[in-house]
Amino acid sequence: MTTYCPHCWAEVDAAAQVCPGCRARLADSGSYVAKLIAALRHPEPFTQRRAAYVLGLLRDPSAVAALAAVLAGPADPYVKGEAAHALDAIGGDHACEILQQVAQDESQPLMVRRTAMAACDNQLPVPGENKAAGR
Ligand SMILES: [Zn+2]
Repeated sequence: MTTYCPHCWAEVDAAAQVCPGCRARLADSGSYVAKLIAALRHPEPFTQRRAAYVLGLLRDPSAVAALAAVLAGPADPYVKGEAAHALDAIGGDHACEILQQVAQDESQPLMVRRTAMAACDNQLPVPGENKAAGR
C-alpha cells in the first residue's frame, strides 16, 4: 500500500519507518493520523483532499469526527467528496449516520450527496428492522 508523508507529502510505502523524501520518522502511527487530521485544515484544498484520501486508506475510526467537520464546513467540493469516501471506507454506525445526513442535505454539492447516498445504501439498516432484536 502507498501512502503519503505528513511532512512533505511525498508518496511512501505504508510500511516505511522513515520518509525517503524528507527523512521524517513515520513510525508512530498515532501521531501520523493526528497529522493527517491536522492536514484536513491545510490552506491548500489539494492537501486537504490527500489527507482525507489517506485517512480513508487507514480506516482509523478516530478520524470520523474530523471528516464530519469537513463535510459540515465550507470545504472545496472535491475535498468534501474525498471526506465522504473516507467515511465510507472507515464505516461503522457513526460514519454512516453522518453520510446519511449529508445525502439528505440539499446545501451539499450534488457530487458529495451522491457519494454519501452510495455509501449508505450498503450500510444502513433496513427501515422497520429492529437491530436490538437479534434475530
Ligand atoms: Zn517526507
